[in-house]
Amino acid sequence: MPRKAPLDMSPEQFRQIGHQLVDDIAGFIGSLPDRPVTTGEPPSKIQELVGTGSLPIHGSDAGELVRETSELLFNHSLFNGHPKFLGYITSSAAPIGMLADMLAAAINPNVGGWSLSPVATEIERQTIRWIAELVGYNTDCGGVLVSGGNMANMTCFLAARKAKASWPLTKEGMSGGKSMIVYCSAETHTWINKAVDIAGMGTDAVRWIETDTDNRINVAALRLAIRKDTEKGKKPFMVIGTAGSVSTGAIDPLRELSEICQKHDLWFHVDGAYGAFAACTKGADDDLKSLHNADSMALDPHKWLYAPLEVGCALVRNEETLSDTFSFHPPYYKFDGVAGEKTVSMVDFSLQNSRGFRALKVWLALRQVGREGYEQMISDDISLSKKMADAIKKSNELELFSQSLSIVTFRYVPNDLDILEEKRQEYLNDLNTRILTIIQEGGELFLSNAIIGGDYLLRACIVNFRTDESDVSAVSEIITRVGREVSAETH
Ligand SMILES: *Cc1c(COP(=O)(O)O)cnc(C)c1O
Repeated sequence: MPRKAPLDMSPEQFRQIGHQLVDDIAGFIGSLPDRPVTTGEPPSKIQELVGTGSLPIHGSDAGELVRETSELLFNHSLFNGHPKFLGYITSSAAPIGMLADMLAAAINPNVGGWSLSPVATEIERQTIRWIAELVGYNTDCGGVLVSGGNMANMTCFLAARKAKASWPLTKEGMSGGKSMIVYCSAETHTWINKAVDIAGMGTDAVRWIETDTDNRINVAALRLAIRKDTEKGKKPFMVIGTAGSVSTGAIDPLRELSEICQKHDLWFHVDGAYGAFAACTKGADDDLKSLHNADSMALDPHKWLYAPLEVGCALVRNEETLSDTFSFHPPYYKFDGVAGEKTVSMVDFSLQNSRGFRALKVWLALRQVGREGYEQMISDDISLSKKMADAIKKSNELELFSQSLSIVTFRYVPNDLDILEEKRQEYLNDLNTRILTIIQEGGELFLSNAIIGGDYLLRACIVNFRTDESDVSAVSEIITRVGREVSAETH
């Protein structure tokens, strides 16, 4: 009697369920513009929909489960693939990425060892080279795909720490030498807190350098901080520049930062999770054209390459700095070569051991549209955000704060606002907080917020190839309408 495993499906059954699912997803994609961005249902309603039952003892019909679950997700999710989803830096997912994830799961290579994933490993290595090429980084760099920007930055941070420690760090840990200091702007993403904590350095190891009026790191303050720490006998080891900050899309003066790093023998890391891909566009900022100067860089294909979650990418100038950090050779892995040729196993560059085939969705998208396609989509996102900023500037009820890359920050200010100057900020912060809550729960449009100099702002970020001009012009209309309603209530 052949074995009959409860999880297995006959090819016929798989075909039937799979075809139905693909049909339903195609219908869903087509219906996106007509759906609300989110239903804004309360958590208790969602918990009720998922149910509170205990683990089922008996199984259910697979086809029914897939269909029922598709309906649940189609009708009650927040859709970052919606043309009016402009919140946070989360992209709409490229359809080819959806198909790629299914194909990747079908082959299910373990991209830790070359012999377990021959084609997949080579595809990941090519994807890394192509990403480097796209943004003007050296293509003979090392790299690894990870879950996202946080992990990509963390991977580079650990490589930097290992490379710059002047004692045997692997063996002795942080207690072996002088206290190591990392410099970054006050606008740097919170990954740095997690990194120094996990690395056993503590948050005291971070110097948060003030920013200028454009939210870029103040280079004079950075120089001074490095000098002071050196005089105190500490060991400055790393400077982080951000290429596209989370709040406003600000790009640090990367050329200057790289010169400072060269002068003081510091590791220069660029957090380009969001903005580095804009380096491929014609009008790219001069600092974005200097990414080749970085010792390491973090990028997020699940942001501006529109890959479905999750995929981040860490690049390092020298591949050995990754293997020095992550390669340990236990006796139970035999990954040294195949058919007499040397092989590369991604486990040597990664905090992870077993690894999925994240590269496929990125690789296929890069092949589907090429450099040209990405140049076009990223440029379009940027020019749409400039159009949005122009519309905001023209309105006498909206106040523009910033526009950089594809991020716009602004707020609603009532026309007839008659309030004491010292009460103004508090009033407007409260008003715009209320507006954002209504917007986020309403489903017509999705924005997020930023806080700059104590001002609570609305923030639109376009990393969305489905957004077009009509969506962008709707933003000022919707915010003005909601702003008037809310301010009428609070008067
Ligand atoms: C998004 C982002 C991160 C974090 O990336 P995740 O993919 O969310 O982990 C870090 N830095 C910057 C500048 C970002 O935009």
